[in-house]
Amino acid sequence: MSAAPQLSLKPGRERSLLRRHPWIFSGAIGELRGAPHSGDTVEVRAADGRFLAWAAYSPASQIRARVWSFEETEVPGPELFGKRIDAALALRRAEIPLETTDAMRLVHGESDGLPGLVADRYADALVVQFLSAGCERWREALIGILRERSGCARVYERSDTEGRELEGLPASTGLIAGTAADGPLKIVEHGIRYEVDVAAGQKTGFYLDQRDNRARVGLLAEGREMLNGFSYTGGFTLSALARGARSVLSIDSSGPALELAKRNLALNGVEANRAEWLEADVFGALRKLQREGRQFDLIVLDPPKFAPTPKDAARAARGYKDINLNALKLLRRGGLLATFSCSGGVSLELFQKILAGAAADAGVSLLLRERYRAAPDHPVRIEFPEGEYLKGLLLERL
Ligand code: SAH
Repeated sequence: MSAAPQLSLKPGRERSLLRRHPWIFSGAIGELRGAPHSGDTVEVRAADGRFLAWAAYSPASQIRARVWSFEETEVPGPELFGKRIDAALALRRAEIPLETTDAMRLVHGESDGLPGLVADRYADALVVQFLSAGCERWREALIGILRERSGCARVYERSDTEGRELEGLPASTGLIAGTAADGPLKIVEHGIRYEVDVAAGQKTGFYLDQRDNRARVGLLAEGREMLNGFSYTGGFTLSALARGARSVLSIDSSGPALELAKRNLALNGVEANRAEWLEADVFGALRKLQREGRQFDLIVLDPPKFAPTPKDAARAARGYKDINLNALKLLRRGGLLATFSCSGGVSLELFQKILAGAAADAGVSLLLRERYRAAPDHPVRIEFPEGEYLKGLLLERL
């Protein structure tokens, strides 16, 4: 017997753990023996006493424990974390050629066997998020391993997400290791340079998951008049302009994001006269553009998450329908719509149905040309479908 506190499940509640899903919800718990603090390791057993997993205890969260390991011999600690981080780095090395980019997600939480840990590399800096009680408990060890294995001495923290609140942890941000950079952080992605605001930008500063989709859509942009809805700091905008788009209108509700987008334009030496910027709500802006009689040959829609979980799916579906319907009204014949959803609660199947509904209402026929997903530094484990959140469709108006 180990000295770790023990958490026994109610009879029959071991099924999801046997399928290696890493979350233990409060309702599944039968008995807790011992007095674990937030983040402490607990030994999880089935009602019949069988060993199931080692997990991190999180007293404040509905997800009461997150699994570190399903192997009884793999006791959580720096050695196991080092092994997991090495495996995560090896996957990126295998999947992302060095010349592609110097910015990537090195660790993607549950999908890399490290629940609640996110580590993004931006050139020579790391940005980390400790989004679970277990990661918070082991933060110093994790920072040490990440610095050593990634070779990045400079580490920023962006543990200021809603998930962190649900774990009962206060927000925590700022430089946590090394010295601050002299100037703004800059990265290269598929040959395009972007400045990244790791201190105040959204997420950890950049939407890394769209890397390959930005490149692909950029290649389709040559000679086209493009609308980029939810442009953030100009990811798709730059990619399209660099590859010969005739013009791009970028819309975002965030003023600071658009300011950074303009700097990114200059950083790449792209002529400013091909870019138009609009600080506005996309829902309203699409209607206004219709009234003005504007038309485009390529439209990108990459909105924020409308549905974090399946229970928000119906409301989210109305949002997706609305923007896509109104975008289709602005799309010329032969034009392309690259439309995305990063809502875990909206499946690819549902998303495609929503687009079919929008096409019907707009009275247009759409050819499904391509499907998109997150870049390979956002791996998906089949036993953790929550990790597969980003989906996209490329549709051509016939
Ligand atoms: N495509 C971008 C990422 C988009 S993230 C890239 O490749 O980098 C979603 C963006 O939508 C954010 O920049 C956010 O500021 C913006 N946003 C959220 N709600 C909005 C709304 N109603 N209207 C316009 N922009 C919105």
